[in-house]
Amino acid sequence: MKKVHLVLLLVVLSVFSFRPVGSWGFDVHRELTSKAVEQLPEEWRAFFREHEDELRGASVDPDLRRSSDLTEAPRHYDDQDDPHLDRNVSSRSSDYRKGVVAWAVENSTILLIKALESDDLAGIIRYAGDLAHYVGDASQPLHSTENYDGQLTGNGGIHSRYESTFIGEYFDDLFEYGDLENLTVVDDPYELIEGQISTGLEVVPAIMAADNKADAADPGRGAKYYQVMYDELGEMTRGRLKLAVQNIANLWYTALVQSGRYEPPQPTSSVSANTLTGNGDSTEAAVALPVWTVMFALVIIRRRFGSSPFSFHSSG
Ligand SMILES: [Zn+2]
Repeated sequence: MKKVHLVLLLVVLSVFSFRPVGSWGFDVHRELTSKAVEQLPEEWRAFFREHEDELRGASVDPDLRRSSDLTEAPRHYDDQDDPHLDRNVSSRSSDYRKGVVAWAVENSTILLIKALESDDLAGIIRYAGDLAHYVGDASQPLHSTENYDGQLTGNGGIHSRYESTFIGEYFDDLFEYGDLENLTVVDDPYELIEGQISTGLEVVPAIMAADNKADAADPGRGAKYYQVMYDELGEMTRGRLKLAVQNIANLWYTALVQSGRYEPPQPTSSVSANTLTGNGDSTEAAVALPVWTVMFALVIIRRRFGSSPFSFHSSG
């Protein structure tokens, strides 16, 4: 019996072995959340501001859950350079361990829509916070690669040097990213985040190169090391944080619109009903109604006159 337990324990540990990956520090997640609140339409901005402390707390909950939920960690990254299934995949599969953050964002969006539809305040806070967290993690370039801690390129420890010490050192400066674009409804949250992950993967070599350059300038990794990091990576990092805020705000907005809890302003120019509803239903209905009316009239006429007055005859 004890042997069975030991085998089970080894299986569980091999499947869910923790990787030494953090995520943006808590302060970064909270700040991304607050910045995204400021992007919302007025009435919903007021609502989220009213609950901002709870929301900021909820934005770091996914990291806190990692110690109690062994399936949680892979929801924070996606090793896109290590091909694997990352959607609708069993948490027991080895693919799952390579990361499913885009799927986590998609699920959080769906759950947020349901919470909004049912006026579930606790659910709204929880899933808006989850969504903000996972989008935030997906914007961290080292959450897109199997070389997440520089362990494959001689840059061991870069993960926390970049996302904790470096960001902490230049926190306010890195959040000075200028104006965001207008809110838009996201058709496919999963694809949005896959794109965010792939642009993150593209800058991973630059992070490793900056680490090498900073090390050469300051092997003791003091202030000079982080100054070089800032010179090399400041602009890129500012862009990643901006992208995260934009995507969090767009996904919250998407949930508000799709739940019916927010009606976007009608465009002032004339736009077809199809464009306004975002699908073909109303146009199809508009076409279908006259067709059915004509067919119904033909049936009545056929019954009354024995044949359709519109039928063609080969003779007579
Ligand atoms: Zn995380």
